[in-house]
Amino acid sequence: MTPFTFVRAHDVADAVRQGAVAGARYLGGGTNLVDLMRETVEQPDILVDVSGLSHTIGQRADGGLLIGAATKNTALAEDRAVRECYPMLARAIASGASGQIRNMATVAGNILQRTRCTYLYDHDGAHCNKRQPGEGCDAIGGLHRMHAVLGASPACIATHPSDMCVALAALDAIVHLDGAGGKRYVPFTDFHLLPGEHPERETVLRPGELITALELPPLALAKRSTYRKVRDRASYAFAVVSVAAALEVTDGVVRDVRLALGGVAHKPWRAWTFENMLRGQPASAAHFDAAIAAEMADAVGLRDNAFKIPLVQRTVVAVLDRLAQTPS
Ligand code: SF4
Repeated sequence: MTPFTFVRAHDVADAVRQGAVAGARYLGGGTNLVDLMRETVEQPDILVDVSGLSHTIGQRADGGLLIGAATKNTALAEDRAVRECYPMLARAIASGASGQIRNMATVAGNILQRTRCTYLYDHDGAHCNKRQPGEGCDAIGGLHRMHAVLGASPACIATHPSDMCVALAALDAIVHLDGAGGKRYVPFTDFHLLPGEHPERETVLRPGELITALELPPLALAKRSTYRKVRDRASYAFAVVSVAAALEVTDGVVRDVRLALGGVAHKPWRAWTFENMLRGQPASAAHFDAAIAAEMADAVGLRDNAFKIPLVQRTVVAVLDRLAQTPS
């Protein structure tokens, strides 16, 4: 590990001041960043510890929630309001990592965790555009069973590893940021980027900007929501594919729906085509199937990950079928 300076932020203003220094990185629970530092993928000069900043979960006047960026994953999954009003989020967090990691990891750290593509972490002759722009992508012809089938580029086919973020994309969450340029608020679905020609750019964060909170708007249909994760073993495994879904059905007709997919793209994938196609249609397996087929029309599978495309389709239909049968 490359030597670094450790400082602790006393409040947001202090964090932003210290984080503005070139070579500084913010430290939450450290459950991904420290791994990356150990592998010298990340080599910050200064670590600004922000784990002591806001970890409160507060009710907003509009009925939504405001979640401090330093809230631990376990605390968020166990929060009563989250479990009752946004069950897909509680389920998504509980399905991620291990109990020990969830106890350490913060909300902001979860949002900013990096892909687990083998080649990003492998310094032993591997080519990775994300680690070294212009170097090439060894995953395309190599190990890519867990990689992207939607929104990938010739430069990078990595997937975003978070479960929590898939639910946040479906729930229209808003990321609160603070930095030298002041505060700003970014819709969660705009926060992460697709790889394009610059996979080294993963979010819209500006240099030195800090995630201060996460806002969950009120969303009545989220009470009837769930998260399903398909993985290679029962726990402590990243999603092969995952589905976060909420459904409102009246008289057999879909009044409203939210759907996001995990394990399929460089960012949590909000299924806008699926949602737009399904609203106003009968809540039937045939209509769920047609809508997800349209969503996946542009999916591209490689030698070892093409199986994800039908797997997503089957999983979505099964999840929506179950939600449609759940009493409101
Ligand atoms: Fe690197 Fe992305 Fe290619 Fe993996 S998929 S080797 S992270 S460029």
